[in-house]
Amino acid sequence: MMHAPAPEEMNVYQNAEARFEVAAKKLGLEQGLYKYLKYPNKEVTLYIPVGLDSGQLEVFTGFRVLHSTVRGPGKGGIRFAPDVTLDEVRALATWMTWKCAVVNIPFGGAKGGVICDPRKLSRGELERITRRYTAELSDWLGPEKDVPAPDVGTGEQTMAWVMDTYSMHVRQATTAVVTGKPIELGGSAGRREATGRGVMICCDKALAKLGIKRDGCRVVVQGFGNVGSMAAKLMQAAGYKIIGLADIGGGLYNEKGFDVDAVIDWVHTQKKPLQEFSAGGTKMTPRDILFQPCDIVIPAAIENQITEQNANRVQARILCEGANGPTTWQADAILDRKGIFTVPDILGNAGGVTVSYFEWVQDRQGFFWRESEVNERLKDYMENSFDQVVRYSETHGVNNRIAAYMLAIDRVASALRLRGIYA
Ligand code: NAD
Repeated sequence: MMHAPAPEEMNVYQNAEARFEVAAKKLGLEQGLYKYLKYPNKEVTLYIPVGLDSGQLEVFTGFRVLHSTVRGPGKGGIRFAPDVTLDEVRALATWMTWKCAVVNIPFGGAKGGVICDPRKLSRGELERITRRYTAELSDWLGPEKDVPAPDVGTGEQTMAWVMDTYSMHVRQATTAVVTGKPIELGGSAGRREATGRGVMICCDKALAKLGIKRDGCRVVVQGFGNVGSMAAKLMQAAGYKIIGLADIGGGLYNEKGFDVDAVIDWVHTQKKPLQEFSAGGTKMTPRDILFQPCDIVIPAAIENQITEQNANRVQARILCEGANGPTTWQADAILDRKGIFTVPDILGNAGGVTVSYFEWVQDRQGFFWRESEVNERLKDYMENSFDQVVRYSETHGVNNRIAAYMLAIDRVASALRLRGIYA
């Protein structure tokens, strides 16, 4: 009988810590550096007063965690969701440090969040939450300090409000304070597709490594937001066959394959439930889609989807993580035993932050690149990082996830040794 996973398995911060500890030990990281990197640099809780459309005053709770600025300014998204916790934001901030180091871009790690349900708030209410959150953080944020980006529940419009509010405070237009902006405000070509494109590049590399053909390769994607829908769309265009899709409302499996553009139109333009897609398929829960027969499974929704209780049900040859933290650390060993080739989140979804880095560079240069240039540079970064992670894994005899952590921790620790500790 299935039973609910133990609560500690579901704590994303403990998940992040568990991998950090294994990797740090394998690396032989000095005790002092270990302690320094284990804890965030600083974190803040904000109580955000906002006038609702009803005329009532509500107070929302928000967080910003700066995990590290050792390799550059903090970088990390802002999440608007009802279940945001400080532990989650801390885990996500830590992952950003490692992710930026895995793809070798000059950023540290940060993350933010506000406890709210964006689906139940008006545009005006969301704007006021965003502006007050940004205003409260105006001393923390900045192109050289901490650079937010979108995450679950926030998007280009939110980033435009962050940019405007910050610019009003510092009294100059400062596009580089935030990434994932609309193109008209200094956003980068290719940013919207970047995380999904990065997922595809990793899948291409994993197939090449395992000697599997791309044409007709069967793919299941959980999550049909920015990451999931873009990954599915780009992968289908490249020859993959997308046979399973899911969002929060449910999953749909169809061995004949989906026309992803038609599903995007159905879900995002016509606003109809994914599960009711006209071409049909077998309906199932959003979780069960992960355990259907396929070659590649891509969790691209939320945390804690593959756990100790269900990992042995994964049938794919390759697991490529588009979401942050979709696999608990207890599940890793089971996936390893099953011989599943895992592309861990801090590599698999790093395409987004890589193009965010390009956006920040372009804003600071005041010179913008063609989309083809962005995509070409992204491919270069992702392929090199993939190769380095796999090489680390083979050299040290560890799985890809621990290899990615080791590579990242090694890079941050080297920078830290060079800088020294200011005390
Ligand atoms: P999004 O809000 O655009 O989409 C989330 C999708 O997940 C939606 O389709 C939603 O219906 C679905 N979903 C939510 N709960 C679900 C559940 N219980 N079961 C199945 N589906 C569920 O978010 P996004 O930007 O696509 O982010 C998805 C994940 O990728 C998050 O973990 C995020 O941190 C990570 N990520 C995003 C980016 C980015 O550039 N957007 C970059 C790196 C990592």
